[in-house]
Amino acid sequence: MADATIDGAPSGAGCLECSAAGGWWVHLRRCAACGHVGCCDSSPSQHATAHYRGSGHPVVQSFEPGEDWFWDYGADAFTNGARLADPQSHPVDQPAPGPAGAVPADWREHIH
Ligand SMILES: [Zn+2]
Ligand SMILES: [Zn+2]
Repeated sequence: MADATIDGAPSGAGCLECSAAGGWWVHLRRCAACGHVGCCDSSPSQHATAHYRGSGHPVVQSFEPGEDWFWDYGADAFTNGARLADPQSHPVDQPAPGPAGAVPADWREHIH
């Protein structure tokens, strides 16, 4: 069995679980170990944290355009990491919150 795809591409342009369920997110985080893209803790479903809890992969990088910081859930602190495979973020024309068409008008009342 292959090891985690450390140099692998991100799982997609949006949160993996939200995209499957028709949900929406505020910002996106990319797992530095396997490329899973999940939604941030401000988002209704907090799938990036759920991925950390389920997989034991503690480090994510922001998947927002222009942001390159890493966060370590285990240490609850910013950290450093190697450059991951492209793309470095979701498409710049993809809105945040997103995805287009799925965000309710009262989205601010649903965030954490
Ligand atoms: Zn999500
Ligand atoms: Zn992962």
